[in-house]
Amino acid sequence: MAMKILILGGTTEATALATALKDEQHFDPLLSYAGATRSPRPAPIPWRVGGFGGAEGLATFLRDGGYDALIDATHPFARQMKRNALAAARQIDIAFCPINRPAWTPRPGDDWTMVPDMQSAALAIGTTRRRVLLTIGQKDLAAFRAAPQHAYLVRSVDPPAPQTMPPDATSLPLRGPFRLDDEFALLTEHQIEIIVTKNSGGRATEPKLEAARRHGLKVIMVERPPLPDWGESVEDADQALAWLHALASTKRGE
Ligand code: NAP
Repeated sequence: MAMKILILGGTTEATALATALKDEQHFDPLLSYAGATRSPRPAPIPWRVGGFGGAEGLATFLRDGGYDALIDATHPFARQMKRNALAAARQIDIAFCPINRPAWTPRPGDDWTMVPDMQSAALAIGTTRRRVLLTIGQKDLAAFRAAPQHAYLVRSVDPPAPQTMPPDATSLPLRGPFRLDDEFALLTEHQIEIIVTKNSGGRATEPKLEAARRHGLKVIMVERPPLPDWGESVEDADQALAWLHALASTKRGE
């Protein structure tokens, strides 16, 4: 019988793994979205939307659904879901594979300021008015409302609610992946002086860093929250697929 797999998604890795599993006969995968964006990318496999009700709810979902494995392919900044996934996996002792996408690291020519959180990021822009590209999603704008002297271009998948925006801010609703040429042109067109980003890692949104390097712009890099105590993890969808194949072989007694 095919192994039932739950993939916690909302990332390029989750979509890549789902695509790879689409035609695999040994697996019966379900992709889970939080419902954070208005129109999630259509999935190549069966999918569901919405929270489970904490770690307990997730454990119940997995147990009642007869799942064989849990893949945490959530974003590096999805701190709560990562904790819930680990707690649920331990509670019901299900095979568990977290994907830990490598963080970005600065290259020669980069001018990065690393900060621990959004408040520090807003402070690091400085007191002088700057034209700032915010690529931090739509949930964390409060810190920048407290720095109203700057002009912000806010790029996020969905437009933020107007009342959450800093006073001088323009919304640019766009979903990645982004191309280097387009990123370079965007920085030129909007005369951006500083970029604020989370250290998401991954290739889909990396071209903005190369574009910033070519423009000689400062990047304020918000560091990741601490990772849960996973023990072992994999780095990408290919490795998660290999982990699943190894698990399936073990179950078949090969
Ligand atoms: P979060 O703060 O860690 O999670 C908040 C709650 O949302 C969780 O407790 C859970 O609710 C629900 N949830 C999160 N991911 C879920 C999933 N894949 N399936 C079902 N429920 C989920 O998460 P977040 O940072 O808001 O991220 C939400 C989603 O957006 C995740 O799928 C993540 O991969 C994706 N994403 C996040 C970022 C980011 O910067 N944070 C960037 C790109 C994509 P219950 O406790 O009720 O189960």
